[in-house]
Amino acid sequence: MAGECAIQTENLTRRFGDFTAVDGVDLRIEKQDVFGFLGPNGSGKTTVIKMITGLLPASEGRAWVEGYDIEEDPDAVRARIGYMSQKFSLYNDLTVMENLEFYGRVYGLKRERLRSRIDAAVQLNHLQPFLSRPAGKLSGGWKQRLALSCAMLHEPRVMFLDEPTAGIDPVARRELWDLIFQLSSEGITFFVTTHYMDEAERCNRLAYIYNSVVIARGTPEQLRSLPEANPRGAKRIEFRTSEISRALHELRHIPEMRDATAFGQTVHALVDDSFDLKEIEHCLSSRGIDAADIREIAPSLEDVFVELTNLRRRELEGNNGQRV
Ligand code: ADP
Ligand code: MG
Repeated sequence: MAGECAIQTENLTRRFGDFTAVDGVDLRIEKQDVFGFLGPNGSGKTTVIKMITGLLPASEGRAWVEGYDIEEDPDAVRARIGYMSQKFSLYNDLTVMENLEFYGRVYGLKRERLRSRIDAAVQLNHLQPFLSRPAGKLSGGWKQRLALSCAMLHEPRVMFLDEPTAGIDPVARRELWDLIFQLSSEGITFFVTTHYMDEAERCNRLAYIYNSVVIARGTPEQLRSLPEANPRGAKRIEFRTSEISRALHELRHIPEMRDATAFGQTVHALVDDSFDLKEIEHCLSSRGIDAADIREIAPSLEDVFVELTNLRRRELEGNNGQRV
């Protein structure tokens, strides 16, 4: 049963015909957590959110929000949650104020409360200068702030944000995250999906879903120290190179190199511990790879997810593609 946590799921599962989009997901998210839900496109993130928010019935399993069962008490859940969907749409032709008024009415707010909630949102988000501007004329970052304001007018305790920073510039991304942390310190729980690793690093808890199954969960620290990401007898190195694909190709022929992945112009590789940095440098240059700034690194979250994904993929292939 659910304790006093903000969100809990137990064996949450969703099938579409023969296809299992979400398979046995167990989550426990404490109040005031900023929980990051990561995973490649199509792995099941949005479907999980839709089930927890009651928009899509689960095929199996249960979900609770602040102790209320989504099936038994859908109204109690709905009153407590806010949802900014991947395609949350503002009305581009309506002004900022008109959008706020529209969404406030959708949430059933009556005159006085509507007024005071809009005032609070405007103040919190510094929307005053833009109130009479059509939403369609706002920059991406301001649109997201307005969308978040609209989704929070009814004072939800638990917010679901599905890829809230997709397509907005880095400054706006940072500002949106600052706002998320401010609101979380005021008692609101956030469930956020993202593709950005720097955003994942900021969450206090994470789960990683791959191919419909949650394959890792924990704090960023816990994930970085998973044994799967830190194999015994190996270390992780990084170097820059101008010829990424040739470097990756050459690395495959070096027996001490266990694994290598490209991140932009940088290669992260897992190398036998006994192979020291000088030897690595020599070996790379003898193969004509222009490697600069070779250094040992701790695994990043991206390394962890790449490692877990590869392991899982091998596991699935070992089972002829059947889920294990
Ligand atoms: P994510 O949000 O991680 O990108 P989704 O939860 O949107 O992934 O989708 C997970 C999988 O379920 C995808 O393969 C998607 O095509 C499939 N899916 C989602 N909704 C439906 C639906 N209504 N009918 C059939 N398949 C769906
Ligand atoms: Mg999605």
